Amino acid sequence: MPDVVVIGAGVVGAACAYYAARAGLDVVVVDRGPVAGGTTGAGEGNVLVSDKEPGPELDLALLSNGLWRELAEFDGFEFEPKGGLVVAETGEVLEALTGLAGKQGVEHTVVPSGGLDDYEPHLAQGFAGGVFYPQDAQVQPMLAAARLIRRGADRFGRGTLMLRTGVTVTGFLRDGDRIGGVTTDHGDILAGAVVNAAGTWGGEVAAMAGVHVPVLPRRGFILVTEPFDEPLIRHKVYTAAYVTNVASDSEGLETSAVVEGTPSGPVLIGASRERVGFDRTVSVPVLERLARQAVELFPALADRRAIRAYCGFRPYCPDHLPVIGEDPRAPGLHHACGHEGAGIGLAPATGHLIAQTLAGHRPDLDLTPFRPDRFEERR
Ligand SMILES: Cc1cc2nc3c(=O)[nH]c(=O)nc-3n(C[C@H](O)[C@H](O)[C@H](O)COP(=O)(O)OP(=O)(O)OC[C@H]3O[C@@H](n4cnc5c(N)ncnc54)[C@H](O)[C@@H]3O)c2cc1C
Repeated sequence: MPDVVVIGAGVVGAACAYYAARAGLDVVVVDRGPVAGGTTGAGEGNVLVSDKEPGPELDLALLSNGLWRELAEFDGFEFEPKGGLVVAETGEVLEALTGLAGKQGVEHTVVPSGGLDDYEPHLAQGFAGGVFYPQDAQVQPMLAAARLIRRGADRFGRGTLMLRTGVTVTGFLRDGDRIGGVTTDHGDILAGAVVNAAGTWGGEVAAMAGVHVPVLPRRGFILVTEPFDEPLIRHKVYTAAYVTNVASDSEGLETSAVVEGTPSGPVLIGASRERVGFDRTVSVPVLERLARQAVELFPALADRRAIRAYCGFRPYCPDHLPVIGEDPRAPGLHHACGHEGAGIGLAPATGHLIAQTLAGHRPDLDLTPFRPDRFEERR
């Protein structure tokens, strides 16, 4: 009998499993599909501190940023500590950006209009300036999820990690009031505790345990260009509008391009945001908007073809914060879901904090803002 069953082999489940095994627990990860077959396989891989308002999410992002750097030292996730450049169209926007950077208290450099070329020689002219964030980074999300699981299974930690793909969780086993394992389409798995890392489906999984956790899908498309021989873009580059879009509660379509090169040459152009349920229909108007915004940032992109696009469903909660921690309504059930558009960046901190709670240690961050039952009073 394992100490823990983790539901979900996305990047968040992988990180929970990795840190739990490292802490000495025996872990089984189950996923109805393959590793990274959910939203993790559809993300862009930004590890950002630049887009977070001061508060609990930024604290989580800073913890995670440090953990990503530690993880990158011993394994290849295509982790690139390249930094992010946020550009402002007008002096007023630059002032607001600079104000936010000051409040965040993270490393940053205010870049005047004339200095933007030094960061991005191919950037369009006419921006009022920007802010450079050296802690922003990039990781390949699918590799990261797979490598974290592999690393745990290789007994890097003191515990063990076993992966079971093609196994769907259908319900929970109980030991009195406590959750004591899961039922699946391949039999029951008894366990000391269960981690709900089911991403956008975290709400459905919670409902199987009789608890309400409102995780909903927020669709996003990403556009991929044909490869460039020479790197066109050195950092992550986006406009200030992205910060507003991320925090927005709008149901309608929002796009603000985040543009960056990849080690193999293609440029990634992300991402749109809209609440349309689990509709996978390709939207050409959305892709056109993303392409146009990317060309406004880097005119040289106009000469390149887009070779593919993909979409995924960000797991969002109404207050835009993830759900992390043990559920007092269902002891033994720990949630690690609802990370919206930041789950890749926030995965190591989430895994680390969940492993601490599973091992009975005091977590390094106060989990109150992320508590699973915080939505009860708002129902
Ligand atoms: C277009 C787009 C761009 C993005 N860009 C970024 C970015 O740049 N940076 C960033 O940090 N984040 C980004 N994100 C968000 C990020 O991808 C997600 O927050 C993250 O991948 C969530 O990971 P997860 O492990 O929680 O969920 P998932 O990867 O979805 O994993 C959940 C897993 O649970 C499994 N599961 C569900 N129900 C069951 C069940 N009943 N039984 C068994 N298994 C089950 C699913 O099969 C799935 O594999 C982006 C998202 C999108 C859509």
